[in-house]
Amino acid sequence: MPGFEWFGDEERREVQEVLDTGVLFRYGFDQVRKGRWKAKAFEQELALRLNAGYAHLCSSGTAALNVALAACGVGAGDEVIVPPFTFVATVEALLTAGAIPVFADIDDTLCLDPAAVRAAITSRTRAVIPVHMCGAMADMNALKPICDENRLILIEDTCQSLGATCDGKSAGTFGHAGCFSFDSVKTVTCGEGGVVVTSDPQIYEKAHAVADHGHDHIGNDRGLENHPILGTNYRISELNAAVGLAQLRKLDRMLEVQRVHKQALKDALSHFSCVTFRRIPDPAGDSATFLSFFLKNEEQARQIAHDLGAAGMDGCFYWYDNNWHYLRRWDHFKHMRAAARLPIHLQPGPDYTALSLLRSDQIMSRTLSLQIKLSWTSEELERRADILQDVMKHAEK
Ligand SMILES: *Cc1c(COP(=O)(O)O)cnc(C)c1O
Repeated sequence: MPGFEWFGDEERREVQEVLDTGVLFRYGFDQVRKGRWKAKAFEQELALRLNAGYAHLCSSGTAALNVALAACGVGAGDEVIVPPFTFVATVEALLTAGAIPVFADIDDTLCLDPAAVRAAITSRTRAVIPVHMCGAMADMNALKPICDENRLILIEDTCQSLGATCDGKSAGTFGHAGCFSFDSVKTVTCGEGGVVVTSDPQIYEKAHAVADHGHDHIGNDRGLENHPILGTNYRISELNAAVGLAQLRKLDRMLEVQRVHKQALKDALSHFSCVTFRRIPDPAGDSATFLSFFLKNEEQARQIAHDLGAAGMDGCFYWYDNNWHYLRRWDHFKHMRAAARLPIHLQPGPDYTALSLLRSDQIMSRTLSLQIKLSWTSEELERRADILQDVMKHAEK
């Protein structure tokens, strides 16, 4: 998963170029920046790589979600359908926007279940945010028509799945907007950063304005620009963008290595009858940052997670107990504990403490994910395959 495994001279060179000019700001200073525009270059290369039309960098993936929501017109009082298996940031962005998170179950893709989304739609639903978890995609061929039929905004949280595709089309380009993160553990990292992509010029125009105090970015004198709408500051710095630019150029090699490493671990597990693998709508488009699989029941999953850890296998995740990635343990959210009053406190929202998502619980309680690393040697890969087989043999006894 993490691009930080592959930092090298390429990243150093890009950062040095920025430091040499002294211009860390992504806009303006045309005379002193010596033609170096790292954020702009990153946006152009990414839009091209994803065939996305437009890309606008932000200070984080969470910021990108906030920018996308605003640019798509999703705001106060709007219901937005999200999965319970996601990083909490998806939900935080909704609360910041004043929107109301509505949870729909996941299915064996570990992403939103299309039937559950359909059932969750009300007259107040404004948008759906599928989250492409752990490197692979939701069933967009089923989810997109549901959004289209009901005239709902479709925003993809693609923060964990840069490089994933379905039928050759990039994750993040199926709906109105796609959001990516480049935080320190993501496939491509720049320390802190994120991006909104869209093929809609009007959404793009709003996005770059929202992320920079409403500036229209017309002309080359910032002081003379107009501000057609209110915004805030979700800008990225040139230093972060420089690192991301070098990383992005390594993406295809990263995907290749991840896929080889993942296949080796998958092969090691494939003849155990208690294991079934996560369903990936288009397996060829898996970005392969994780190998996710289901055990027979919760007890077996817990046992195997424990045994793998004891045998020296790091990077094994049992999300069901995790208090960042699965709703079950988000007590602060369920009780809406915030530092200050949120818009949702002023509206009669759902009672999240009473929320019950049995199908998601049934799936998540049986799910393990193994993180796939870039830096493994063939010996390390073999060691891991051996541990997996030993632990599984023992479990099947
Ligand atoms: C990482 C992540 C985010 C937030 O990204 P940041 O850059 O850390 O703000 C949002 N959603 C998901 C699913 C993520 O994994």
